Amino acid sequence: MLDLLFTGCTLPDGRTGMSVAVQNGHIVEVAPGFTAPAHETIDAAGQLLSTPFVDAHFHMDSTLSYGLPRVNQSGTLLEGIALWGELKPTLVQDAIIERALAYCDWAVARGILAIRTHVDVCDPRLLAVEALLHVRERVRDYLDLQLVAFPQDGFLRAPGAQDNLVRALDMGVDVVGGIPHFERTMADGADAVRALCTLAAERGLRVDMHCDESDDPLSRHIETLASESHRLGLHGRVAASHATSMHSMDNYYVSKLLPLLAESGLAVIANPLINITLQGRHDTYPKRRGMTRVPELMAAGVPVAFGQDCVMDPWYALGSGDMLEVAHMGLHVAQMTSRDGMAACFDAVTRVPAQVLGLSHVGLVPGCRADFVLLQARDAVEALRLRATRLGVWRAGRRLASTPAQSTALHLPGRPGSVSFQHG
Ligand SMILES: [Zn+2]
Repeated sequence: MLDLLFTGCTLPDGRTGMSVAVQNGHIVEVAPGFTAPAHETIDAAGQLLSTPFVDAHFHMDSTLSYGLPRVNQSGTLLEGIALWGELKPTLVQDAIIERALAYCDWAVARGILAIRTHVDVCDPRLLAVEALLHVRERVRDYLDLQLVAFPQDGFLRAPGAQDNLVRALDMGVDVVGGIPHFERTMADGADAVRALCTLAAERGLRVDMHCDESDDPLSRHIETLASESHRLGLHGRVAASHATSMHSMDNYYVSKLLPLLAESGLAVIANPLINITLQGRHDTYPKRRGMTRVPELMAAGVPVAFGQDCVMDPWYALGSGDMLEVAHMGLHVAQMTSRDGMAACFDAVTRVPAQVLGLSHVGLVPGCRADFVLLQARDAVEALRLRATRLGVWRAGRRLASTPAQSTALHLPGRPGSVSFQHG
């Protein structure tokens, strides 16, 4: 007797009429039309069953703090960093934990079951680190939280940041972070990349740096990050987050850079909602879009994931943990409107970030953990178009969240009925 059986599913790769069988928290069968006795059978009725959403880039120590102590008036990255600097000394651990747990509830409800969050290590009290280590433990039965030691004010530039970052790793933070474009000089930025990659290699950790989050085409720290990854044998374990300066780089230079990134096994994480909002702020017109070169990176074989980055914090007033909203913005900014392009944008918030985070249990094949989101959509493109309702969310075969199907009753004269915006 199976624990759980889904029938009539569409899968993200386009296969229809598929059954997915679950036993002891794991997938045991994925086959068309398969049936067997089960404690619970769910007829997906042609809707999309996917692996859950994975958010590869988030800031959980600042989330849901919008308006504290004031609102970012200019809307720029630098005012956001300054505002976060005003807020930091006033932070209280319980409040960070409360806000983070509230956000985790939102995330699970939206079908996100893994988040990589950066945590600022420049406050010598390491309050946020302690708070998020506590949260990681609190949510571990339903959400995989990966913490990045993030020196927001500069690894070399901020007093004490080097010691604080090492202390955070000693306390159990998972990933080495960085922000080379925020160091005092280009040379300092490159030195920071080298030191941080060496630290990660010594400790056997992954690396994820805020890298070239700038409109300056000469901000080229991603080149150093790639060459250090290659030199230290960190292939497949290093990610460059944002990498926005690449949108403004010289095309000839990028033609040399892309193969280097592929050779180094680097991943790139774009944050479309935030990049389109924060970049290009010094431009009049034409105004640059500010997102890295997503389709070109993908074509070069570089894994590209989309992250949420911010929800209601000093940098961004909006957001709700909706990775379909993130992918929807990504496909618009990158103009990835072909069927394959849209499918790749869906992958960039599901399959690819799972790979970037090293979550080997994620997949829709026998042996993988039974983690799913069932969407009110007939395929990945419809899911993006509708930012589809998450009908159900499961982890290891256990249901974590349910949302009723969206349907609006119409009271039109001579044309009563209902509408769900699904087509065909
Ligand atoms: Zn970030």
